[in-house]
Amino acid sequence: MDHLKEIGAIFFDMDGVLYDSMRNHEYTWIHSLKEYGIDFLPEEAYLNEGRTGYSTIRIAFEKYLHRPPTAEEEKEVYALKTRLMGKQPKAPVLPKMQELIKFLKKQNIKVFVVTGSRQPLLVDKLKEHFGIEASHIISGADVTNGKPHPEPYLKAWERSTLKKEACVVIENAPLGVEAAKAVGLYTIAVNTGKLNDSVLRDAGADELFSDTTSLFHSLTNRYHE
Ligand code: CA
Repeated sequence: MDHLKEIGAIFFDMDGVLYDSMRNHEYTWIHSLKEYGIDFLPEEAYLNEGRTGYSTIRIAFEKYLHRPPTAEEEKEVYALKTRLMGKQPKAPVLPKMQELIKFLKKQNIKVFVVTGSRQPLLVDKLKEHFGIEASHIISGADVTNGKPHPEPYLKAWERSTLKKEACVVIENAPLGVEAAKAVGLYTIAVNTGKLNDSVLRDAGADELFSDTTSLFHSLTNRYHE
């Protein structure tokens, strides 16, 4: 994808792409699962990033306690994690992402956000920080299956009303890359987390950047070429 002019829509993941929020997720996963005797590792927060909360809880219980969580435990862990998230410092917007979205909109490129998150203030936040309307957000509340299932990106693509070749995904998580590639979309990875680049490449990323500033420069330069 050498010329941005061919692109009609970009689907942005949220945590770790638009917001520097993954350290909060890492902290709250580790501390909520610890209450149940599970020593979740920091990198596991990143390897499971994109899954629904309940799915991550089930994976952690199976791996560390060798049994599935009860329905009650699922709810308790998720409620505890949500409570801890509420106490974390506000996640800042990642560098140059507001500028990138402004730039893309100016070129009449449609911008969507595709996230597994279902936090209640998400719509207000995306509107305030990025000018993104509710109709351009696919959240955890809009899908039955979270990433790595293709459903979230399939929904975004349907909403774009464009050909697949005109759509690009920007992701920071291996499961998010897998979900996007399963739909057949061109996927750019930005490695803002703690995993090796190879994990994102192995997931199928078509391009890889080490931070959001280099992503911004690369995309905007391509457009001016
Ligand atoms: Ca993410």
